[in-house]
Amino acid sequence: MSGYRTTAPVTWCPGCGNFEILNSVEAVLAELLGEGFKRENFIIVSGVGNHAKIVDYLDMNSFNSIHGRAIPVAEAIKLAKRDSKVICFAGDGDTYAEGLEHLIFAAKRNAGIVVILHNNRTYGLATGQFTPTSQRTYKGGTMPYGSPENPFNPLELLLSAGATFIGRGYPVRKDHFRKLLKDAILHEGFSFIDVLQVCVTYNNLYSAYNEHVTEIEVKDPADIEEARKVIRSWDYLSTDVPIAIGKFYETDKPGYEEGFIKFTDNELEEEGRSEKIKHLIRELI
Ligand code: SF4
Ligand SMILES: [Mg+2]
Repeated sequence: MSGYRTTAPVTWCPGCGNFEILNSVEAVLAELLGEGFKRENFIIVSGVGNHAKIVDYLDMNSFNSIHGRAIPVAEAIKLAKRDSKVICFAGDGDTYAEGLEHLIFAAKRNAGIVVILHNNRTYGLATGQFTPTSQRTYKGGTMPYGSPENPFNPLELLLSAGATFIGRGYPVRKDHFRKLLKDAILHEGFSFIDVLQVCVTYNNLYSAYNEHVTEIEVKDPADIEEARKVIRSWDYLSTDVPIAIGKFYETDKPGYEEGFIKFTDNELEEEGRSEKIKHLIRELI
C-alpha cells in the first residue's frame, strides 16, 4: 500500500477498466516516490464522468473540474506551480467531445501536463450515449438503431496538433501499461495516453481488445512519420486489424511555461503596477 488511497468507497461497476487505471497510477506514483519524487510534487485534476471519481480515491492534491475543462485547469496549475507534475484525468465524452478545443490547444502549445484519457468509447456516467470514438453502429439508450457516425482517430489529431508524447495503453496488459504511464509522467511537455478503458456496462469491448491489442515498439520515437504510420494502423473503426499499444511518439520541444515571463520584485516595482496586480502576479509565479 503506497498510502495514496483514500477510504472513499469505490463505486465503479465490478469489472470496469477504471480499477486497473487507479491501481496502476497508485503503483507508479509509489515507484516515483521511491525514486526521489515527493508526494507534493504531484497534483491531479479530473473532468466529469466516471473517470473523474479517481480524484476521490487518491489522497493527493487534487481538483475536480467541470465537464470538458480539466485541461485548462491543469494548464493553469502548471503555470502557477512549475515544479509540479500535473496529471490530468479526462474522459472521451468529456474531452474528445465537450473539451476538444482545450485538448488541441494544450498539445499545440506543448503545455507541461500529463493527460490520461479514459477512453471507454461511451458516456458511461450518462448511461451510454455514443462519443466521438464509439464504434459505428454502437447501440445505446438514445440511439437504439446504432451510431450513424464513424469515430475519429484522436491520436492522429494530437500528433498533428503538436503533442510531444503520444501513446495508447490497455490496462489489462498491466506491466506494459504501467511502464507507459511512468514514461508519460516523466516526459517534459505535453504528454498524452489514450487508454482503452473498457466500460463493461455500456460498451464491453474486452473480447475485441483481448483478441486484437498488440504491443509495439517504434524504432525511433522521435520519427513523426513512423508515429503517424502506427497511429493510422487502427482507425477506431476496423475490427479485423491489430490494435497497437505502446509509446508511439516522443520528442523535445520548448514547453509552454518557458514562454511566460517571471518577474522579479524589482521588475514589478519598475513596471509601476498597483499593489493588487503585483500581489496577483506574485501568486501566479
Ligand atoms: S458505467 Fe462503465 S465506465 Fe462507468 S463505472 Fe460502470 S463500467 Fe465503469
Ligand atoms: Mg467515456
